[in-house]
Amino acid sequence: MSRMESKILQARRLCRQLFVSSCVDEKRRGCHEALLRQRPHWSVLKKEEQMEKIDQGERIPFDITLPLPARDERSGSDAGVNLFWELFSCQRCGRCCFTPGAGLYLEKEDFERIAGHVGKKRLISLCRYDKALQAWILRQPCPFFDPEVGCEIYQIRPKTCTKYPLHPPSPDMPYHLAVDAFCPAARDLAKRTLGWWIICENHWAELLGRQEQDRAKKER
Ligand code: SF4
Ligand code: SF4
Repeated sequence: MSRMESKILQARRLCRQLFVSSCVDEKRRGCHEALLRQRPHWSVLKKEEQMEKIDQGERIPFDITLPLPARDERSGSDAGVNLFWELFSCQRCGRCCFTPGAGLYLEKEDFERIAGHVGKKRLISLCRYDKALQAWILRQPCPFFDPEVGCEIYQIRPKTCTKYPLHPPSPDMPYHLAVDAFCPAARDLAKRTLGWWIICENHWAELLGRQEQDRAKKER
């Protein structure tokens, strides 16, 4: 890892500790507009390129990192996730439900809740048991998806479905929310929030500046 990369990683770590709530407030207020007027940002300079990359999610599986802080367990630190859900608007295309895949992991509580509703025998017939995970896996395309009405068990759907399209943060950006580029509504949100990166970079520059000052003071 180069010195610059390690500095950025360090800044992101500090960023999560110090700015997790305030940056969400700033983004909610549209502060990036003023910043962009002062200093254009790569996400805007290369807007067309960024849009094309995001659109590739329709064909190539990957995650998009959003300029919103990921949840952690400290109180008040889920502001980024909350803002994500305020902004996210599912297009109800059903792609996440009818697309073939390896299956949908059911937590024990998911299995019991859904079995209580549709019957254990029927649910088992729609799943396979994964010995390594010791869990039931719901077949994909999902048998509960009806093209006319959508999800037949929407109110009691598995936890994984309630979180989609959020994914665990990507390894190269562990402190930001990551979304599945396969979801068209997630791609739209990524496009709308591109300019927000400038707030992140502003914070990182400030943090690195502070660190440099502290180091210089110690060396004096
Ligand atoms: S793929 Fe995205 S937009 Fe389509 S139904 Fe699923 S969550 Fe909604
Ligand atoms: S349980 Fe419902 S929301 Fe989840 S994949 Fe199946 S149809 Fe979609």
